[in-house]
Amino acid sequence: MARGRVYLVGAGPGDPELMTLKAKRLLSEAEVVLFDRLLSQEMLNGLDGAELIDVGKTAGNHKMTQEEINQLLIDRAEEGKVVVRLKGGDPYLFGRGGEEALALLGRGIPFEVVPGVTSAIAVPELAGIPVTHRGMTSSLTIVTGHEEPGKDSPLDWSALARLNGTLVVLMGVSRLEKNVSALISGGRSPETPAAIVEKGGWPEQRMISGTLKNIASKAKDAGIEPPAILVVGEVVKLADQLAPKKMAIFRPDAQMKDSAELARDYGFQAICAPSISLVKKPLPDDLARRLMMADCVVFTSANGVDMALGNDAIRAGLKDKLIVSIGPKTRRALDKHSLTSEVPEEYSSKGLEILLRNRCKNVLFLRSAQGSRYLSDDLRLAGLTIDDIPLYEVTGSGDPRLDNLIRNACAVDIFAFTSSSTARCLVERACELGLEASLRAALEKAVVAVIGKPTATELERLGVRVDVMPEEFTFEALLQALRRWYQ
Ligand code: SAH
Repeated sequence: MARGRVYLVGAGPGDPELMTLKAKRLLSEAEVVLFDRLLSQEMLNGLDGAELIDVGKTAGNHKMTQEEINQLLIDRAEEGKVVVRLKGGDPYLFGRGGEEALALLGRGIPFEVVPGVTSAIAVPELAGIPVTHRGMTSSLTIVTGHEEPGKDSPLDWSALARLNGTLVVLMGVSRLEKNVSALISGGRSPETPAAIVEKGGWPEQRMISGTLKNIASKAKDAGIEPPAILVVGEVVKLADQLAPKKMAIFRPDAQMKDSAELARDYGFQAICAPSISLVKKPLPDDLARRLMMADCVVFTSANGVDMALGNDAIRAGLKDKLIVSIGPKTRRALDKHSLTSEVPEEYSSKGLEILLRNRCKNVLFLRSAQGSRYLSDDLRLAGLTIDDIPLYEVTGSGDPRLDNLIRNACAVDIFAFTSSSTARCLVERACELGLEASLRAALEKAVVAVIGKPTATELERLGVRVDVMPEEFTFEALLQALRRWYQ
């Protein structure tokens, strides 16, 4: 029988782009992939044809033991398969990769280890903490915070306390309090800077910083969960300057991923906290007639475009009409449906009026039920006949990520509002949670950025100061404006 082989591959801390080229190639060639719970689904996308085995979670909620994993590697290799054992971070750092290698060696199965970006260094780094820094520390010690009970040579925490360099503790959540007290009783100053970084490199990365004395209670209050890394040492202070700015984004789930990626491209750390959901509304019975009456149809959001064009009657009714999209994003959404539209030079009722003047009389808005009405009100004053069909309703999202953000609002550097409803629903939810005062304090302290005038008006109504508004009303322009603000 053909002999298979096994690659023990490091996948990095979780961001698929932090995988090595070799890891990526081997994955695409693998016939069997065994992976851990902590890895991103994205790494496994497009691996059609390979057998994917989640060894962190199997039938009946029973987690595979290390022996079972070793056996599975051996079995598949002996079937002649090319097997990738994909492991978080680096395979040989607290990853039991060595045990798997020895098991394969024992059966004479050829294997190769492929190093990965280890979380021990990358996770602090992604949070703005260099693990060494000239003039501050010249040593780095990496330990596990969660030792197997009954080990022969347990970690000597008082020896660790006497090393004055950087200490990185992996698997550090469950015994955080015990471990930091051990360091303090071992003689490390309670005032030593310390930070805990949760889910480094993931979209929901968070960092809590403090000192050895208070980091455990701070982490507990913030509800820090594994995977997380504790960093102790002077280098933690560098994060004040080097940490990426944390930007809270409130868009509905469907747009969140693209926006978060764009924010990351601009060097911000996106915190995804959808504050609104869009719920389709039933269309009116006289839809066809009202479409016929209009000589111009205005769309004010990409969401509106996508919802409207899912409907055949609307599609047909748009023929031969002047179609207006309020901004470039809405126009791109229309482009995707092969519809040409015009964009006013300025996103305002004035801009719209200039575009429509002497060209049409009956304007139909297809948009959200709650969107700001100032555009249409002003056009009406300018003598145009306005009709308005609400396509969807904006409701509070009920998303747990929003509640989490509200609870930790003081950790946010930038609040980015992309519509008036994202702002309104954030404040409403904070009121429901009884956390309005702390949210307002956080807004006061942070940079508040809005995509355009209607959103700015809404924030004014809510009593929130606005710091940044781009000239062009797109999310990307907002990111550019924020970058300038920080420069
Ligand atoms: N071999 C891995 C470590 C495995 S031990 C590596 O080299 O990175 C698992 C521990 O790693 C977790 O308990 C946590 O402390 C840390 N860890 C892994 N990925 C992490 C991430 N994205 N964010 C924070 N900690 C992470």
